[in-house]
Amino acid sequence: MKRILVTGGAGFIGSFLCEKLLEQGHEVICLDNFFTGSKRNVMHLMDNHRFELIRHDITLPIYLEIDQIYHFACPASPVHYQYNPVKTVKTNVMGTINMLGVAKRVRARFLLASTSEVYGDPQVHPQPETYWGHVNPIGTRSCYDEGKRVAETLTMDYHRKSKVDIKIIRIFNTYGPRMALNDGRVVSNFITQALKNQDITIYGDGSQTRSFCYVDDLVDGAIRMMAAENFIGPVNLGNPNEFTMLELAETVIHLTGSRSKICYLPLPEDDPSQRQPDIRLALEKLDWEPKVELDEGFLYFDEMLSEATEEASRYFRV
Ligand code: NAD
Ligand code: UDP
Repeated sequence: MKRILVTGGAGFIGSFLCEKLLEQGHEVICLDNFFTGSKRNVMHLMDNHRFELIRHDITLPIYLEIDQIYHFACPASPVHYQYNPVKTVKTNVMGTINMLGVAKRVRARFLLASTSEVYGDPQVHPQPETYWGHVNPIGTRSCYDEGKRVAETLTMDYHRKSKVDIKIIRIFNTYGPRMALNDGRVVSNFITQALKNQDITIYGDGSQTRSFCYVDDLVDGAIRMMAAENFIGPVNLGNPNEFTMLELAETVIHLTGSRSKICYLPLPEDDPSQRQPDIRLALEKLDWEPKVELDEGFLYFDEMLSEATEEASRYFRV
């Protein structure tokens, strides 16, 4: 049994990670400032005596005694990370320095949740870990893209100079229950719009692509990476199944049986035109590949959504 810190543990991916680590018998400390996460995401873990929730902003130092750190704290949706871009940079730079400082002091193993955004609008397709990317350093996405690139740099420098035991995963688009329904990301937007029979908002002409990984697969990959010996990464974790946004919209309409129509809105600045992970390294080093495909993942998601809607309507009924 280990004592494990999950920063951003009350967020979408972090909450599933906390849940899985508890299931495996570990002690889990969840650190979150609730900017985009919520206590609701971890409410069901509160009764577990091995779970602790701390409200804390990682841009400020903290002293904790732990064996491992999963460093996930950072808003991930473009709407959220652009809300206060300077804070996004602070979270990635000062927050990552603080968490690497904890790892250095107590000799904890440190895993950074980086992102496919380090590849920017990629000119190499699919993207292998060896690709250095094509990122606009001054655009509206750069607070996140460059923030995560510096977080990777810091992680490598603490490893080289201070011998911190580190790991870097580069997460590609991940979806599942507990994504904030108003977070502006494509999967949550399309599903919410479809369930309400509202217009499905495609940005641009819908020809841009993304590859979507179900959250259980991603959490499994992150835990395998933390356990791996003699491999620090970076390693891509994502589902190589690539879709255009138009295909995604049609899939969502089909799976939800919605009456929604498609409407087209302007493409946001620097929106990557394509994205697909090359996951050969994860397969070779971690024996990991995703198991859940999009239609299956959406069915779980839909089930959870209707349960949540039902529960909410029971709760608010007068
Ligand atoms: P999320 O927004 O649901 O979770 C992020 C969590 O971090 C939230 O609970 C938020 O309150 C917390 N947080 C933000 N700033 C903080 C701060 N300064 N101090 C303490 N807590 C803070 O997003 P997510 O989708 O769960 O993403 C989690 C991590 O995975 C992020 O680092 C993100 O960059 C990375 N990632 C996610 C995806 C994806 O598709 N979901 C893709 C690539 C990378
Ligand atoms: N997108 C869209 N409609 C929406 C939300 C997003 O067409 O309502 C597009 C967006 O322009 C991008 C893709 O979907 O091309 C994925 O967007 P998301 O914000 O989920 O993630 P990211 O761009 O960070 O991969």
